[in-house]
Amino acid sequence: MHRPTWVEIDLDALAHNLNSIKNKIGKGTSIIAVVKANAYGHGIEKVSKRLEDEGVSMFGVATVEDAVKLRAYGINNTILILGCILPNQIDTIVKYSITPTIVNYQIAKGISSHILQSYSSADLRKKHRVHIKIDTGMGGFGIKATGAVETIRKINELENISIDGIFTHFTSSDGSDMDTVKEQITLFNGVISALESHNIFIPIKHTDNSSIILKNPLLFNAIRPGISLYGMYASQYLPRLIDLKQVMSLKTKIVNIKGLRKGDTVSYGRTYTAQRETVIATLPIGYSDGYKRQLSNKGNVLVNGKIAKVAGVVRMDFTYIDITDIPGVNVGDEVVLFGSQGDKTISIESIARETESIPYEIICGIGKDVPRIYKPE
Ligand SMILES: *Cc1c(COP(=O)(O)O)cnc(C)c1O
Repeated sequence: MHRPTWVEIDLDALAHNLNSIKNKIGKGTSIIAVVKANAYGHGIEKVSKRLEDEGVSMFGVATVEDAVKLRAYGINNTILILGCILPNQIDTIVKYSITPTIVNYQIAKGISSHILQSYSSADLRKKHRVHIKIDTGMGGFGIKATGAVETIRKINELENISIDGIFTHFTSSDGSDMDTVKEQITLFNGVISALESHNIFIPIKHTDNSSIILKNPLLFNAIRPGISLYGMYASQYLPRLIDLKQVMSLKTKIVNIKGLRKGDTVSYGRTYTAQRETVIATLPIGYSDGYKRQLSNKGNVLVNGKIAKVAGVVRMDFTYIDITDIPGVNVGDEVVLFGSQGDKTISIESIARETESIPYEIICGIGKDVPRIYKPE
């Protein structure tokens, strides 16, 4: 029996969202499913497996460790590391056929030389597939668009490297500033046409994350959705163009119920005072599980299909709710912190608004110790 606080992952909703995205983009565009950060807190193995069963053939992760985890789980398709790798990780990415993002000549050269040294016979030496990242404005890692062509031509000449993909990432990834997106696309296109004029044709080109897929009619031949797969829009300003179902629910069970008299207070700092005879239930979940402290005296939860409010401040391991107006509640009853119960739903987007956060941070912030229960198993 797992602890009475858990996350439920609706894998059918995940498949539904994937299909909604597929319908939007049409057949000519492939999907690189972004499963970094433990699939945004949903659990990288089960999520990737289901996506693979649904036909996804490329995955995006942030770290080599996550890529290796996927290989160990039996994912044999392309795994692209969206972050940078260090020279001492070359060994691992070659061993597990993991596709790195190349952000300079040296790392590509390092991979090529490693393969040359590891295999004495030329027949055994395979070209390692890589994607090139172009910096069109993010300013972090990536080969700067201006002057990129020279670097990429050199990389292309390396004996054991095959450039499979080229991509860039938008600074306005929530789609709030489409002017900068267009500027970045122009720079990116400039690099691609310059390469093509040198007879370098890179098969997979990708720029769009979830929000931009919705706002930008001009797609390259692959996209990188993350948050939309998990059933959310990155911000409230995006057009709700596709039907998305929230994949993650957060649930717990009432562990105590007690009555308070008018004037009694609840939790640290006595920020909640009972204005009448009040019934308070204790939930075994707190900010250490990712139920944010900003929800103190503010959050809504579902009990018996009705809304109850958080009473007092959220503690590290406990949260109190006011159930005075909800009849027939018992210890052991299920409480939904986000997700659906009866005909009501508490969206992760609403939690993000209430905590002045973004949906990404809410789902990634759910504690690693909170068990993930998959439906269907
Ligand atoms: C995280 C990430 C994505 C996915 O972004 P969403 O907004 O979740 O769709 C796409 N591309 C890169 C490079 C990323 O780091």
